[in-house]
Amino acid sequence: MFSGKAHAAATVITAGVASPAIVFLAQQPPLSAIAFAAGCMVGLVVTPDLDVRYRNTYSETIMRHTAGRFVGLLWDILWLPYAYLIPRHRHWLSHTPLLGTALRLLYLLILPALIWWILGYFAALPALPQITLSPVASWALGGLVLVDALHWAMDRLAR
Ligand SMILES: [Zn+2]
Repeated sequence: MFSGKAHAAATVITAGVASPAIVFLAQQPPLSAIAFAAGCMVGLVVTPDLDVRYRNTYSETIMRHTAGRFVGLLWDILWLPYAYLIPRHRHWLSHTPLLGTALRLLYLLILPALIWWILGYFAALPALPQITLSPVASWALGGLVLVDALHWAMDRLAR
């Protein structure tokens, strides 16, 4: 079984190898490569292994070391319901490429939408903005999807 550290190393290597390839082989603008690398790096913390019910995941460790203990704790609390919504660790809902990524991004969008909806009862708020995917955001999403797929492949290899 690969550890969270091994998944993180694979993620960083993917960002480091794929980003120059996007510029030099695919001849895309550097901003696309930067967005792709950023998407890969988001995969360090928005990882399929957030389905682990015991806390102190590698994702939380990264958040705690980069943003402080309080943010790490908030990150941990944010993902605790997700861990209990997914039936078990490495379930297909969290680990299937594309589906798992989409569900985690949806999970991240639900909380702000819920807060906005509740605040709407107390104050007149504008409607939630429509989410559109710019070309740069598409590259970032591609990076996240790729590292999630890599995570899935590593977990399959380690069985
Ligand atoms: Zn996993």
